[in-house]
Amino acid sequence: MGATLDALHRLQSIEDRLRSVRDQIESKRRTVKARQSRIAAIEKQNAETQQIIRQAQAESDRFELDRLTREEHVNKLREALNRTKSNKEYAAILTQLNTEKADMLKLEESALNALGRVEQEKKKEADLRAILEKEKTQAAEIARTSAEAEGRLAKQLAALEQERDAAADGIPTSVLAMFRRACERHEGEAMALVERVHPKRSEYVCTGCNMSVPLEIINSLQSRDEVQMCQICSRILYLEVPAGAAV
Ligand SMILES: [Zn+2]
Repeated sequence: MGATLDALHRLQSIEDRLRSVRDQIESKRRTVKARQSRIAAIEKQNAETQQIIRQAQAESDRFELDRLTREEHVNKLREALNRTKSNKEYAAILTQLNTEKADMLKLEESALNALGRVEQEKKKEADLRAILEKEKTQAAEIARTSAEAEGRLAKQLAALEQERDAAADGIPTSVLAMFRRACERHEGEAMALVERVHPKRSEYVCTGCNMSVPLEIINSLQSRDEVQMCQICSRILYLEVPAGAAV
């Protein structure tokens, strides 16, 4: 293998580690963010519950006020009933009184129902508060360990970036540009092994895209320290796995 390809393999290996460290940082941040959204969702639910409690309480108060007004009216009707002289008037007032009493009963029931809802929602609110407290404690702990891990990873990242710059030194600029483009296009996998498809025929494929590689590229790779790109996927091609490298 040529010296340039060797250097590119070293660069690729550093690039892989860099990517892995960046992924770890991203994953930590995602976890923290997911916890925050969960807390926000519970807080929203809690606010909605409080709103329902206020509405049900106000409703119950209105029913009670209405009932009291009717009670006053019933008392007045009772007095009128005592003062009445004619049977006809008596019967009319009695009907009115009974209607008012029936309405009062209905209002009392409605007020109690609304109060029942208040109690029910208050229980729900207490449960939500307990969940929220627990979630917040957990989220704080996760944020703390995440920040610690991120600090460590940031140091690793800086060291790897230095290592990468050192590894890039001495690689021709045009080759480096080719490498960077291939990295961008293939999620950091800039290089691809060339495989011989058939032991008896001179047919080769790029293992990055599985398309065939022309023989002149194979010849060039075998004879010169020249960097060759797959004409289909633009990955940098190599013929053999460097010693000690994992594929
Ligand atoms: Zn290819």
